[in-house]
Amino acid sequence: MFETFLQLEPELRLAAFGGTIGMILLWEFLATKRSSELTFKRTLTHFLLMIVNSFALRFVMPILAFELALHVEAREMGLLPLIPAPEFVIFFISLVVLDLAIYTQHVMFHKIPFFWRFHRVHHADTGFDVTTGFRFHPGEIVFSMIYKVALVLLLGPSAAAVLVFEILLSSASLFTHANADMPRRLDSLLRLVIVTPDMHRIHHSRQGDEALTNFGFNLSLWDRIFGTYHRDPSLPHADMLIGTENISAQQAASFGTMLILPIHKD
Ligand SMILES: [Zn+2]
Ligand SMILES: [Zn+2]
Repeated sequence: MFETFLQLEPELRLAAFGGTIGMILLWEFLATKRSSELTFKRTLTHFLLMIVNSFALRFVMPILAFELALHVEAREMGLLPLIPAPEFVIFFISLVVLDLAIYTQHVMFHKIPFFWRFHRVHHADTGFDVTTGFRFHPGEIVFSMIYKVALVLLLGPSAAAVLVFEILLSSASLFTHANADMPRRLDSLLRLVIVTPDMHRIHHSRQGDEALTNFGFNLSLWDRIFGTYHRDPSLPHADMLIGTENISAQQAASFGTMLILPIHKD
C-alpha cells in the first residue's frame, strides 16, 4: 500500500499544495480578517521566491530528505526503528518528533544572527496572507533541507512519515498564514492541538517581543511546553503592525531587495 503512495510523491505534494491554497483563498475571500495587502508586486515576489526555492533545492542539494529516507529505511538506520512498537506507532512518533525538530529550528532561525538574516525575509512582509506561507529566502529553504537530511540520518523515520510530514508542514504553512477569520471558540478549540492563523499572526507582530513567541508550525504543544506561547496580541488583529524594523513595505515587496537582504548591511 505504502509503495503506491510513495510512487505518487510529486503528484501528492502538488495536489495537497494546490488543494490547500485553493481552499484558503476562498476562505480569505469569504471571511477576510485584515484589509488586504494584495499588491501585484508583493504577490509576484512571493511566487518568484517559491520558484527559485524549488530550483535551489534541486541544484544545491545532492539529495532531499524524502529520497534519503527511502535509503535509510531500506537499511534500517537511525534511532526510531529501535523503538519496540508497531509500525503505525513509530509513524506517529516520527511525525511528532519531526515537528518538535522544526519548532527548534524556527527558534534557532530567530536567535542565531546568521540564520535570522535569512528568516528576516519571511518576517519583512508587511502583509499576512496565504502567500506569506511560501515567502522564504532560498538560503533558509536550503539550510532547512540540510537540517532535515541530518534528522533523517539520525532518526531514521520511514519515507512515508517524511512525505506526510513535509506535506503537512507545507499545508500548515499556508493555513497558519491565512488572512481569514475564524470564530473565537473554534480558534480556541483548535489551538489546543494545532497552530491557527490567529496564533501565528502574533509571531509576525512588530509589537514588543511578540515575534519571539508562537514558533510552532503544526502542533501548538511546543510553545506551551517551552513557555513561548502567547494567546492574544497587545493590539487587535485587525490593527496589528506586521513586519520588521527598518524594512519598508516597498522594500519588502521587491524580489531583488529580498534576495540580497541576508548580505545587506543594516
Ligand atoms: Zn519566525
Ligand atoms: Zn510566518
